[in-house]
Amino acid sequence: MSELAAYAAHDEASRGRRFPEPEPAHRSEFQRDRDRIVHSTAFRRLVYKTQVFVNHEGDLYRTRLTHSLEVAQIARASARALKLNEALSEAICLAHDLGHTPFGHAGQDALNECMREFGGFEHNLQSLRVVDVLEEHYADFDGLNLTFECREGILKHCSHANALALGEIGERFLKKHQPGLEAQLANFADEIAYNNHDVDDGLRAGLVTVDQLLEVPLFAEHHAEVKARHPDLGGRRLVHEIIRRMIGRLVTDLIDASRARLTAAGVRSIDEVRMHAGPLIGFSDPVRELNRQLKNFLREHVYRHYKVRRMTAKARRVVSALFEAFLADPGLMPEEHQATAERLQAAQGTAGRARAVADYIAGMTDRYAIIEHRRLFDPSERT
Ligand code: MG
Repeated sequence: MSELAAYAAHDEASRGRRFPEPEPAHRSEFQRDRDRIVHSTAFRRLVYKTQVFVNHEGDLYRTRLTHSLEVAQIARASARALKLNEALSEAICLAHDLGHTPFGHAGQDALNECMREFGGFEHNLQSLRVVDVLEEHYADFDGLNLTFECREGILKHCSHANALALGEIGERFLKKHQPGLEAQLANFADEIAYNNHDVDDGLRAGLVTVDQLLEVPLFAEHHAEVKARHPDLGGRRLVHEIIRRMIGRLVTDLIDASRARLTAAGVRSIDEVRMHAGPLIGFSDPVRELNRQLKNFLREHVYRHYKVRRMTAKARRVVSALFEAFLADPGLMPEEHQATAERLQAAQGTAGRARAVADYIAGMTDRYAIIEHRRLFDPSERT
């Protein structure tokens, strides 16, 4: 651990766990966080949750699990280069999407709409709820009892109202403080991973072509580079050679620009990082622009493609229908979720019941949500 920079998250400086525990014997505190995340139930569900393409559309598309692994890989490499805490950045990345609903953003938007009168639904906050409350693994506490630094990284953003209700972990949103560098890094690793794998998946699905992508300067630049070296290369190898260069370009810039900013700021501890006027991890200006152009292209040509929109519309209908049915009659849910609904209703009224329903739906995988929908609405289906 001695090779960590002064501004990294150090075990000794951790703000600790909500329920005190003995120090781990052969691991760091943040390695223990990571291990608990990998052993969690929510982590295993990520394999059957959509990133952009619904899980059953094809075996080669990213799921939330493979996405999370790619994010963690990018963050670990960058953390090591910047002498940040690699185990913490890995833990944050592996946990960052644990609260995601089935069917990607479509599912999250639908659930947020259903929950509008009851405090809303935010997937970041739900990821924190999974690791703080919903995981049932340990005798002494609910959740995984992760370190403050890991929880701070998982809660990427949240509304003002939720920040007020969250106490210590919500404080930084009210005080406009920054999270630790490992958390800042996780955000960028997330973005680098999904922008690039969505190019790959978009091409694979036939939603976009290499020719169309040439209008994206970052893509065109590396396409030209690959073609100059390998004039006859085409197909999957061409795409992969371009994408790996794009990832390399973004990661290298992220490391170099962040290092320069850290040096200029002169921060000497995680607390100085937190108090700094703005984030210290980030791209250089030219690469931020290249990245923005890539995002715009994806929004226009992949996320708004009619095939993706059809899937999105279907997903919204499934999630909304499940929510309405379960909220109207929690007795339709499996017994343990009924019990939770009763408990939360007794404490918080209808909002509590709605929260229990949202937790149940958010925990579903794509295929489980589809099966539940069929069981509830298709009379010929076994219940
Ligand atoms: Mg993500």
